[in-house]
Amino acid sequence: MSSRLITGDKFESEKEVELSLRPKNFTEFTGQEKVKDKIKVFVEAAKRRGEPLDHTLLCGPPGLGKTTLAHIIAHHMDTEIKVTSGPAINRKGDIAAILTSMKPNSILFIDEIHRLSRDVEEYLYSAMEDFALDIVTGDGLGARTMRFQLVPFTLVGATTRAGLLKAPFRDRFGIVERLNFYDRASLVQILEHSADRLKTNLTAEGAEEIAKRSRGTPRIANRLLRRVRDYAEVKGDGKITTELAKYALDQLEVDQLGLDPMDRKILFLIYEKFGGGPVGIDTMSSALSEETDTLEEVYEPFLIQEGLLQKTPRGRMVTSLTIEHLVTVYGLPRTVTIRNGVASQTGFDIET
Ligand code: ADP
Repeated sequence: MSSRLITGDKFESEKEVELSLRPKNFTEFTGQEKVKDKIKVFVEAAKRRGEPLDHTLLCGPPGLGKTTLAHIIAHHMDTEIKVTSGPAINRKGDIAAILTSMKPNSILFIDEIHRLSRDVEEYLYSAMEDFALDIVTGDGLGARTMRFQLVPFTLVGATTRAGLLKAPFRDRFGIVERLNFYDRASLVQILEHSADRLKTNLTAEGAEEIAKRSRGTPRIANRLLRRVRDYAEVKGDGKITTELAKYALDQLEVDQLGLDPMDRKILFLIYEKFGGGPVGIDTMSSALSEETDTLEEVYEPFLIQEGLLQKTPRGRMVTSLTIEHLVTVYGLPRTVTIRNGVASQTGFDIET
């Protein structure tokens, strides 16, 4: 799954290069203006009062800058940041060890916070609310609870699945912000900035071409830039022009809409085998040999948000936009039309 080039998920091998491309402050952090403006005010206010920032929850798909923002917050608060993730904290003791070693007003960043165990999550409640931990010593009748006072700190949580957080946990975050997919202009700016750092000659049109296929996600934009740069160096003179970018991205099988082979397989299946839909997720799952969860969590969100896939009570359907794309780019016959949200199969190629 994570071998997909256009996934927003992090690759282990990318850690270092990501660090070198990561914006260090609000000025370098491109786009997300509304979220950025709000957080800037909250940071400034907390700093003036000499208090920690309120606990902050950052939501949104992978690769949009949640981790980056957490580091930027720490930078502007002039404070230390400790980084961990939901799956890395197995026991209450793990989180207690981290919390008791925090410096006043510093930041604890927990990535994938929705993956914390229930136990650990509930243990965090008093830490978040009263900056205190209840530690139980002994067991049975001799068990005693001791309250351990912590220094004031800020918990910054990041999640791709805000819906999975239980209400009492969510309510303990004073600041909840959602990051959205980036527009083309912001991605172009991010790419130009990254190209500078990578010392790569990227033309404005080349940046536009890569941005178009980056699914609104900076991590994917940067990843495609590095792969396209390889082609520029080996197949060209190092300069990323439109032609070079188009050639490289075609070789990488990322099409004009940022779709990869699996996205296309899904759309082709509904269009060709199921007359445009509706088709149930279980049927799709068997036809594609892919788990329904993976289809729903990994592949569908982007297709739905781009208006290429529609979820109806009777199943998944393609849209007029999908048909246009499949016919004009992939040369499929125009055998399905969508009228009033219903797909009808004509059985022959419709002249337009
Ligand atoms: P997330 O935590 O949401 O998965 P990250 O913060 O790790 O995403 O961002 C992934 C990469 O994308 C970063 O290393 C950074 O290079 C780039 N990036 C993310 N947001 C921005 C932005 N607003 N401006 C510039 N680069 C960004």
